[in-house]
Amino acid sequence: MMLVILLMLMPSVSAADTEGHLDIYFIDVEGGACTLLVSPSGESLIIDSGYPDNNDRDLNRILHVVRDVAGLEQIDHAAVTHWHLDHYGNHAALSTKIRINNFWDRGIPDVLSEDAQFVNRVSNYRSASQNASNSLKAGDSLPVKSGKTSYGVRILTGSREVIPNTGQPNPYADLHEPQPKDTTDNAASLSFLLTFGEFRFLCCGDLTWNIEAKLMTPNNPIGQVDMFMVTHHGLATSNNPVLVRAIDPRVAVMCNGPTKGGTEGVIRTLRKCESLEALYQLHRNVKLEPELQTPASFIANSGPTQGCQGVWVKASVAPGGREYTVQIGPEGKPRHYLSR
Ligand SMILES: [Zn+2]
Repeated sequence: MMLVILLMLMPSVSAADTEGHLDIYFIDVEGGACTLLVSPSGESLIIDSGYPDNNDRDLNRILHVVRDVAGLEQIDHAAVTHWHLDHYGNHAALSTKIRINNFWDRGIPDVLSEDAQFVNRVSNYRSASQNASNSLKAGDSLPVKSGKTSYGVRILTGSREVIPNTGQPNPYADLHEPQPKDTTDNAASLSFLLTFGEFRFLCCGDLTWNIEAKLMTPNNPIGQVDMFMVTHHGLATSNNPVLVRAIDPRVAVMCNGPTKGGTEGVIRTLRKCESLEALYQLHRNVKLEPELQTPASFIANSGPTQGCQGVWVKASVAPGGREYTVQIGPEGKPRHYLSR
């Protein structure tokens, strides 16, 4: 009886409950990258699109999540972090299956030194975007719509440039050990800082070591984040501790493949983060001992690529951005985290 009275006295629905969640899907593209964000208004942003070919393996996985899981009928914004095939592999093919309203990239270079086929390969992307993709540079923001909870997407790096090095001194700046200059397009990756109320999510594409340090030394212009998409599939040429330790994520999600990324050194760097509560891996690194990676219950796919079901990881951020859940696949039990 008491309970009934208490329930009757409670306001039926609080204002915040009427607003939807921000959902982030980390789609398994076997060591490429594809991240789909859907804001409470239903506005969608897809960052990267996995590998082409392989009988449309990645294309079909992406379409499944976009249409069947997220229930979208169009993609509002499709971004490319940089010009490697595991990142822009399906943008053109996707656009033949579902409407894409805006294309975003770092600008299309005339040539790409590491890819002799680039001009051919990018021609499909040019046609798909009707040669009218929008270029982004460090300091830009995407024109996304806020609801009751403020929502923003800011670009921190692009084409080897970084936002101004303002902010507090980075206490980990001395950990930087310069590496030989990276002449590939990885170093030119766009980095995205997404904010949803108090929640902050960082995704840096395949940004590499020296540009990470350029962004993060001597000051930390980003501050700390709640969720970090581990850079470059967890490869050791990225994830400089000057960045990873300073942003000190509470949850990290690594888009590695069974034999690509997910490296021991990067996992050790992540484990040194004071606030890290959970590391999710899209794949078990089949070459690494179990104790050197995250516990099996935090790994979405444990077998090799052949026969892989492509299980996704989803984060769902509550209105206001003060808390969020992370689950593995449709049957996964959501784990609960508080924003910092
Ligand atoms: Zn990559």
